[in-house]
Amino acid sequence: MKKNQEYIIKISGMTGEGNGVGRTDEGFAVFVPETAPGDLAKVKIAKANKSFAFAILLEILRPSPDRIKPDCPVYKKCGGCCFRHVSYAAELKIKESFVRENLKKIGALDAPVLPVIPSPKENAYRNKAQYPIGLGESGKIITGFFAKRSHRLINCPECALQPGIFAQIAGEFCNFAGQYKISAYDETKHTGLLRHLYIRYGEASGEIAVCIVANGTCLPMRNELVSRLTGRFPDIKTIVLNINREKTNVILGKKYINLLGDGSIKDWLCGLEFNLSPPSFYQVNHGGAETLYKTAEEFAELSGGETLLDLYCGTGTIGLSMARRVKKVVGVEIIPEAIENARRNAWLNGITNAEFILGDAGEAAAGLEKRGLKPDLIILDPPRKGCSPEVLETAARLFPGKIVMISCDSATLARDLKIFGGLGYRTVKIQPVDMFPRTAHIETVALLVNTREAH
Ligand code: SAH
Repeated sequence: MKKNQEYIIKISGMTGEGNGVGRTDEGFAVFVPETAPGDLAKVKIAKANKSFAFAILLEILRPSPDRIKPDCPVYKKCGGCCFRHVSYAAELKIKESFVRENLKKIGALDAPVLPVIPSPKENAYRNKAQYPIGLGESGKIITGFFAKRSHRLINCPECALQPGIFAQIAGEFCNFAGQYKISAYDETKHTGLLRHLYIRYGEASGEIAVCIVANGTCLPMRNELVSRLTGRFPDIKTIVLNINREKTNVILGKKYINLLGDGSIKDWLCGLEFNLSPPSFYQVNHGGAETLYKTAEEFAELSGGETLLDLYCGTGTIGLSMARRVKKVVGVEIIPEAIENARRNAWLNGITNAEFILGDAGEAAAGLEKRGLKPDLIILDPPRKGCSPEVLETAARLFPGKIVMISCDSATLARDLKIFGGLGYRTVKIQPVDMFPRTAHIETVALLVNTREAH
C-alpha cells in the first residue's frame, strides 16, 4: 500500500477510539475515521505501514444501516465524542466487542463478558466539565474543547454531553472576562491569567461548584463575578479560584482560594449524601455510577460479615454504599481532600464502621497487612493506568476470598487480571457498564475468586 492510493473498502469493525476498520483484498487492515461497520467506502491512504494503514474517507458509497446523522456541529473537529455517527445500540455492541477483544488478547482470559449495560442517559450525563479558556477567532474570550490529539481550542458553547446550564455559566463567565479585559492563558508563551473553567454539579442535589483555574493568585473583579454568577444561577453554592502557575498540562494546581462557600458541594448517590471538594474524584455519570456500584455489589454477593477493603476509594462512595451490608469498610486514597471528604461522608450518613487511610494504595495495603487486616473482599478501582504489580501482589497476599476490579480502561484491566491469575485469582465474569456514551470510554467490572487453599 502506498500513500495517496485509493481503495474501495467494506468497513467491518471499529476500534475502541471510534475509527472504522476494513481490509483490502490482500488482507491489509485499513483504519478510517468517520466510518462505521457496514459502510462501503472510497478511501485514500494517508499513512501506510507493513500490514496496516490509516486512510481518509473520500466518499460513502453505501452507508451502514447503523449510521445516523451526527447531532453536533463540531463533531468532526472536537476530540470528545467518536460515536455520534452511529446509533447508541451499535456503539454498545462495538464497545462490548472491544472489551472482549482486550480481555482475550491482552489478558488471555476466557471468562464470560456479559452484555454491556447501557447508560441511563445518552446525552447530558456528565456532571463535570473542565473547559480550556482561550481566544476565539474574533479575539474574544471563549471556552471550548481541544481538537483531536491537539491543543487547538474548538469553540463549543453547547456540548451535548453536559447539562445545558454549564454552557450558560461558561457564557456568562466569558462575558465577564471580556468586559473586564481579563486575559486568557497562552500555553505557548506561558502568559495570561485564565486557564480553565471547571464546573461540577450534583445531579441529585442540584448544587453547582465553579472553579476558575488561573495562572496567578488574584482574580480582578472577583466580587463582581461572584454576585453575577450567583445572581443568575442561584444553584451555584461555591466558587473557587485555583492557582496553577506551572507550565503543565495538568489542569488543577495545588492551591485553592474560596470566593464563595467552602469549595465543596453535596450530592446524593445510592441513597447517601456525599460532600465533594474540587480535587476529589467523583464519577461523572450519576445514574451510570449507581449501576456500576450495584453491579460491583451483586458480584461481591455480600453476606453481612465481611471486612471490605476499598482501594482507590476517592470520596468513599463505593465502600460507603455497601457499609450497611458489611461488618467493616477500610478505604485507601492518595488525594488528601478526597480522604477528608470520605471521612466526612461516613459521618454525614451516620456510618461508624468505615475507616479511611490517606496514602498510596500499595503502601497502605502493605501497612494493613502488617496490622493483620484480613479482608474478605477487596474492591480495586484504579485510575486509567491500572495497578502496579506491587498493589496486585499485596492484595493477593491479603488473601481475600473475592476481588472485584473496576476499571475505565479494559486494556490495563486485562493486563492486571492476567497478573492476578498468576497470583491465584481466577476471573469469573466481566460486566461492561457504559458510563460515557458517544465517547471512546467504557467502564468494566470484573469478579475474581481465590483458587488457593487457605494457609
Ligand atoms: N472509587 C472511587 C474513585 C475511583 S477513581 C469512585 O468510584 O468514586 C481512582 C481514584 O484513585 C482517584 O480518587 C485517585 O485520586 C486515586 N488514586 C490514584 N492513584 C492512587 C494511588 N497510587 N493510591 C491510592 N489512590 C490513588
